[in-house]
Amino acid sequence: MDKNQIVTLEITDITSEGNGVGRSDGMAVFIPETAVGDIIEARIVKVLKNYAYGKVEKIVKPSEDRIISDCKYFPQCGGCSFRHINYKSELKIKEKFVYDAFTRIGGINAEFLPILGCDCPDKYRNKAQYPVGTDNNRPVCGFYAKRSHRIIAGNKCRLLPSIFSYIAEEIIEYAVKNRIKSYDENTGKGLLRHIFIRQGYHSKEIMICLVVTKASAVRFSELCKILSEKYHDIKSIVMNINPDNTNVILGKKTVALWGKNKIQDIMCGNNINIAPEAFYQVNTLQAEKLYAIASNFADFKGNETLLDFYCGAGTIGLSMASRVRKLIGVEIIPQAVENANENAYISNIHNAEFICSDAGKAAKKLVDSGIKPDVIILDPPRKGCDNVTLNAVLQMNPQKIVMISCNPATAARDCSFFVQNEYNVEKVQAVDLFPRTTHVECVVLLSKVQK
Ligand code: SAH
Repeated sequence: MDKNQIVTLEITDITSEGNGVGRSDGMAVFIPETAVGDIIEARIVKVLKNYAYGKVEKIVKPSEDRIISDCKYFPQCGGCSFRHINYKSELKIKEKFVYDAFTRIGGINAEFLPILGCDCPDKYRNKAQYPVGTDNNRPVCGFYAKRSHRIIAGNKCRLLPSIFSYIAEEIIEYAVKNRIKSYDENTGKGLLRHIFIRQGYHSKEIMICLVVTKASAVRFSELCKILSEKYHDIKSIVMNINPDNTNVILGKKTVALWGKNKIQDIMCGNNINIAPEAFYQVNTLQAEKLYAIASNFADFKGNETLLDFYCGAGTIGLSMASRVRKLIGVEIIPQAVENANENAYISNIHNAEFICSDAGKAAKKLVDSGIKPDVIILDPPRKGCDNVTLNAVLQMNPQKIVMISCNPATAARDCSFFVQNEYNVEKVQAVDLFPRTTHVECVVLLSKVQK
């Protein structure tokens, strides 16, 4: 097979990166923006030893899953991968991602429950982080193009509440008028890096966080007045200072410019304070359903000690606190732990304790102090749990482990470690928190093998 060769093939599968897979000359060819059942002519763009990449040259016969994309930025924008197929087939694909990860990577046999999809796959995100760049010498904000840091100017995203784009536009207009320079990744010069907006789904409270290269409150004082007078749901405007040449959006220091330095939302009936640094699930309605499934899996009797590892602002554990005797949460980001403690207090929960620590270190200490949890929740970041944490969890010998993960591959890997160490994977359920993207969440119930 050669570069630029045109091949005709049928798409038979979709990879977890969102590419369609077809076969030609016995080689797998990966082609973006295709659908299972498509017959296409593809141009080969890259040939590797055992597989190749192509792009659609002509759709000979379209799949029945296809729809016309309703977003003008698709597929250039890197945000969505599945705007060209209907949501039902997207869910089927994601259910298979999770099934394949567990059966192939983890070698795990379990009951696979049907995926839980969203009632509405639009406007579900409660958070946006618009990168700010320059176009024709003028500040612009938008979205990163696929696999790049090129900014596609425009802020009307179908996954976000409309008010976010009005606010982003207002900020850019202000930057233009006041000659505020956007940050340039290549030179490190300029002031405004990102516009970070978060809105409590239930409370409607809005936080705006302006990420800048150096403290410059005075330059934004008029903007705070304009925004707060115009949009009454804005409760907090903060400035985060990030002077470093890095892809990480937030820097270490945040100062309030107007109003509070956090917003409050309601999640699973609890009051939840969220600082800009704290992780907060982006799809609140669906996250509430995810936590309810995790709670059902745990099937509490009332006298349990529950450990919630990687607890963020405490949302999962707090949603279960009334069903257990004692809750201990562990989280590495200090502002999130501060939120978790406040959240217990403002939600009238008195059996919770939160530890600010690396999960592995805290797990070892908890083992040493003789804590015997009945149920452990693990909700790690994408890379999964480290070996220290996995081994400490084993030593604590819980009856049940509930794993929640946004990366089925690492979840399957970590679950297979427990399967090799006297746990059974009972149930696995995929939950779609991120419609139109390739991301999917899964919940897993593991139970100690009874001897
Ligand atoms: N359970 C929370 C957060 C899940 S996201 C919720 O549902 O909202 C994963 C969390 O793990 C993040 O808050 C992140 O800050 C935290 N984290 C990442 N690495 C960690 C580590 N080594 N030890 C403890 N927490 C960590």
